[in-house]
Amino acid sequence: METILTINNLDKRYGAVHAVKNASFEIKKGNVYGILGPNGSGKSTTLGIILNVVNKTSGNYSWFGGRLDTHSALKKVGAIIERPNFYPYMTAHQNLKLVCDIKGIPYSKIDEKLDVVGLLERKDSKFRTYSLGMKQRLAIASALLNDPEILILDEPTNGLDPQGIRQIRDIIKHIASTGTTILLASHLLDEVEKVCSHVVVMRRGEVLYTGTVSGMTANEGFYELKAADMQSLKSAVQSHPAITATEENEDKLLAYLNAPLSGSELNRYLFEKGICAEHLILRRYSLEEQFIQLTSNTATTNQ
Ligand code: ADP
Ligand code: MG
Repeated sequence: METILTINNLDKRYGAVHAVKNASFEIKKGNVYGILGPNGSGKSTTLGIILNVVNKTSGNYSWFGGRLDTHSALKKVGAIIERPNFYPYMTAHQNLKLVCDIKGIPYSKIDEKLDVVGLLERKDSKFRTYSLGMKQRLAIASALLNDPEILILDEPTNGLDPQGIRQIRDIIKHIASTGTTILLASHLLDEVEKVCSHVVVMRRGEVLYTGTVSGMTANEGFYELKAADMQSLKSAVQSHPAITATEENEDKLLAYLNAPLSGSELNRYLFEKGICAEHLILRRYSLEEQFIQLTSNTATTNQ
């Protein structure tokens, strides 16, 4: 699969603030990537660096396998990283004509892209009469004018009402279905879960996970355990090779798995160590639980 963007050990400091720490990940053609992380985790800074509007401190990135320099590569990129900004007293169509003039794009693209974002009927309305959702959709149309290979969006649904959010998400999914690669930054877990095939989880500038969204949830899960002697339960569980970490949760011990382990196997293992489990339940994480677990540091790792 063709690589669109490779990021290697990217680092950014704003004075004392270490905004991006040694981040590495790859964007492959045809996938929908979400950079997911709480506010302040370095998502916008990362996007700013690869779009050449923020200077990196160290590390590197390359577009399209390094075949193009950043300037030529960015001609094949559509990006919206700021609030949509158009001329308020001009119509949507007039605004996009200006964009075509600046970028050397034929006007025939305008209606095609307005149709993609559902604004064709409103193309002769002045920008100032648009709702926030329509403004955002116009920005997407504008970013699509040059038929980019990748569309980059920073918090595409921020500030929108539920209907506006749904429209934007449907449009992104539709654009992805036509083969355009997408990279979006969002602090919203459900957005990434609903829209993206792949996820890069960031926290305080660090990349914690990269992989498929389904890979993040399709894990082995964890056991909830309880026994009369919690201390010996814990040490027995920690020495089992399929268990990577344990965590105490109220009166239960949570044991996280890195390999399949059936309840009867675990029960037998504990019994052989002289422990009778009173409670033994296998659970799997939702993406939300995975995310919370990744972005907090409560679990104690054995390795
Ligand atoms: P996110 O998009 O994930 O919310 P940002 O990349 O905007 O995160 O910010 C990451 C960190 O860098 C935050 O601590 C933020 O305050 C800081 N930061 C972002 N932009 C600047 C800037 N221009 N000057 C100083 N600090 C900044
Ligand atoms: Mg941001």
